[in-house]
Amino acid sequence: AEAVVIVGAGQAGSDTAAALRSRGFTGPITLIGEEPHLPYQRPPLSKGYAAGTADRSDLELRPAAFYADQGIELRCGVRAVELDRTTRTVVLGDGGTVRYDRLVLATGSRPRVLPLPGLDHAGVHTLRGVDDADALRRLLARPDGARPKRLVIVGAGMIGLELAATARGLGHHVTVVEALRRVLARAVTARMSAWLAEEHTRRGVRLLLGHEVEGLLGGTGPNPGPGVQAVRLHGGEQIPAELVVIGVGVLPNVELAVQAGLAVGDGVLVDAKLRTSDPAIHAIGDCARFPSPYEGRPIRLESVQNASDQARCVAAAITGEPVAYRAVPRFWSGQYDVNLQIAGLTGGADEVVLIGDPARSRFSLCCFRQGRLIGVESVNRPADHGIAGRLLAEGNTPTPEQVRRPGFDLKAHAV
Ligand code: FAD
Repeated sequence: AEAVVIVGAGQAGSDTAAALRSRGFTGPITLIGEEPHLPYQRPPLSKGYAAGTADRSDLELRPAAFYADQGIELRCGVRAVELDRTTRTVVLGDGGTVRYDRLVLATGSRPRVLPLPGLDHAGVHTLRGVDDADALRRLLARPDGARPKRLVIVGAGMIGLELAATARGLGHHVTVVEALRRVLARAVTARMSAWLAEEHTRRGVRLLLGHEVEGLLGGTGPNPGPGVQAVRLHGGEQIPAELVVIGVGVLPNVELAVQAGLAVGDGVLVDAKLRTSDPAIHAIGDCARFPSPYEGRPIRLESVQNASDQARCVAAAITGEPVAYRAVPRFWSGQYDVNLQIAGLTGGADEVVLIGDPARSRFSLCCFRQGRLIGVESVNRPADHGIAGRLLAEGNTPTPEQVRRPGFDLKAHAV
């Protein structure tokens, strides 16, 4: 049988290995991961894990025994540093090499770094991996009612808002600074942004929209010390802070693909079957840019659903059933008791119809483009989310007029 090598032992990588075995693939599988941990899930890192209510073992995608039992060679703590496409060899950081017939790049993404003065002060963090989360968890913990900290979060994206909610839940003082005029601007409609902003404000977060950070100040001011002291905004305002978390988006890890001469452009470029410009190499998850039937141009998605469904799609291709990837994009986020779920891509919406009751934190926004449903954003309406995903997949979508009728129910439309 062919030898499969997977670079990146995160959500997409681990799921690919598991999907190959569950499809009956019997060849050798090597899963190479730079992090010295068993493959784990990231979503809890900004939620329960940062809050101290979830533990390491809750994060693991699969127990160690799974990989051994399934004959998956898991090599954690070693980086793939080079690809030789003529000999089909991956070179590892420890000098070792691994041969492949089929290679899957599942290298994920990393936090974007803002070119700000003062980034190196103690107390300035980003959040991507469990080691980052461990550091934040220690700083946010309040044993025996230790006094609350002043936390400034730069960026009102998913991670920034989730961390804001977590830190408020622990009683810290939280300011979120966002350069754009609304929160989650890349992910949700303006209407959902406004509702979420209000929710955070109501919970005591100071939300500064349309403000840019100029630098991080430390070591001077009222409490001299080595750590960060304040965040300075354009215009001069200084916000005191003992802890700063920067969450301004991610960059795809494409170094290996670039070095190997694969087509790259904000992500490893793949076709509808998730093949790179070299047909022996697939790319999936956060690192891949693929043509989506739900968007007019190739996109990169950063979600568990996308990583997981692309893993299954590639496992099918490797086991002889290549199909175009067309899973409906789905995303969720947890903030306070708000369960935000998104089915489809709502960025291009030109009409939004509300069902449910925002005042009671239970509603869905049905998002249309030129009269066609393109996505549904739900707050605490998981049934809507489930049905919306199905309707979008089937193309059996209601019109804005139908949704506007009093008593409209997505479930009733689905049957
Ligand atoms: P990753 O999980 O990042 O895995 C890639 C792995 O490859 C990493 O371990 C990396 O170290 C390794 N790697 C990279 N380069 C190399 C190399 N050269 N050699 C060896 N190994 C390498 N998504 C949701 O849908 N819902 C959520 O609520 C949610 N919350 C999140 C909260 C946080 C704090 C974060 C950080 C992400 C969250 N996400 C959420 C996003 C989701 O976790 C990612 O989309 C998903 O992990 C992507 O999977 P992946 O396998 O592509 O990348």
